[in-house]
Amino acid sequence: MSVSTFIKIKFGTHENIGSGPIHLPERELHTTATWFTLDERFAYSEADLEDQLEAVSDLMRRLAPLYLMCDTLDLFTTIQMKSTHTSKPTVYLYDRYPGGIGLSEALFKDADMVLEAAERTVSDCPCESGCPRCVGMVGYGDFKQQVIRQLQGLKGTI
Ligand SMILES: [Zn+2]
Repeated sequence: MSVSTFIKIKFGTHENIGSGPIHLPERELHTTATWFTLDERFAYSEADLEDQLEAVSDLMRRLAPLYLMCDTLDLFTTIQMKSTHTSKPTVYLYDRYPGGIGLSEALFKDADMVLEAAERTVSDCPCESGCPRCVGMVGYGDFKQQVIRQLQGLKGTI
C-alpha cells in the first residue's frame, strides 16, 4: 500500500485545515521470504478474499515470532491480491534485514506448525463470526470459517 496524500486535522475540533501530496522514495529491501498462496475457492467475493489475506497475514505476523523465537519486528508481512510471483492471492513473510537472517527459511520449515497454531487461535476463540482477537477484524457472516478453511488448505502446501 502506498500513501499519496496527507490531511492536516486540528486537535479537538477535527477541523480539516489543509492537505497535500506526499513524495517519498520507494524503499527496496533485498531479503528472503516465505509465502502462502490462498485458495480463491474459499471466498465468495474479491472483498472476502482480500479480508482473508489480511486475516492470515495478521495471524502469521503475530504467531510466527513465537515459533521462531524472534522479535515481532524482525519479520514483516505484505499481501498481494495478484502476486508478482504466483499470480494468486499471496501473503509474504519476510526478514526485515538486508540479505535475510534465516527467519523466513525457518518459517518455511515450520510452516505447518505455525498454520496449526493459527487455526487453533481462530477455532478456539469464543466469538461467533470473527473478532480482533482471532481474525484481526470484526467478522461478518461465516468469515471465521472462511479463514479456518484457508488455514487448513495451506497446510502441507509449502
Ligand atoms: Zn474471535
